[in-house]
Amino acid sequence: MEVKLEDLFNECIEELAKIGINFDSQIDIKISKRNNKRYGCCKYEQPILETAYRNKRNIYYKSYNKYHIEISRWVLDLNKEIIKNTIMHELVHCIPSCNNHGKEFKKYANIINNKLGYNITRLGNKREDFEKSNIKYDDDKSYKYKIICTNCGMIYYRNRISKNFLRIYRCSKCKGKLKFI
Ligand SMILES: [Zn+2]
Ligand SMILES: [Zn+2]
Repeated sequence: MEVKLEDLFNECIEELAKIGINFDSQIDIKISKRNNKRYGCCKYEQPILETAYRNKRNIYYKSYNKYHIEISRWVLDLNKEIIKNTIMHELVHCIPSCNNHGKEFKKYANIINNKLGYNITRLGNKREDFEKSNIKYDDDKSYKYKIICTNCGMIYYRNRISKNFLRIYRCSKCKGKLKFI
């Protein structure tokens, strides 16, 4: 799993280099340990002092030496293009002045969307992404249990599960048998 994520990450970095977006900072990527509802996040450390600016109350930095991207495990069940889209979104956060979803973030997201055919948005569209990837969309649930239809491959997530779940339930799409993965 980690290997695949690393490969896709490298593909994204290479594609960005082709359109002139390069990174001086150190960036790493891993699967998030916690079961997050969000697609991913980008943590940063070691601010570059020369890029500091302040308003009345706070001091801000435009860039950092180190970025740590974390991708939620369930994202890896989605289509490859959606996984890469998620990685790209987090990579935009590694560009100077882009650690929020403000003007600069939008500017780079637009460039990448136009030149490389991505669809980087502020939040993503979970329902659409799940449907495209043959995963049953269910927003309230977390992703503790993962179940797959042995017939059509549809993936379901459940937070809690009753004892006889596999005997009682069938795939809602094709009525196929379910199993845990
Ligand atoms: Zn973001
Ligand atoms: Zn099915």
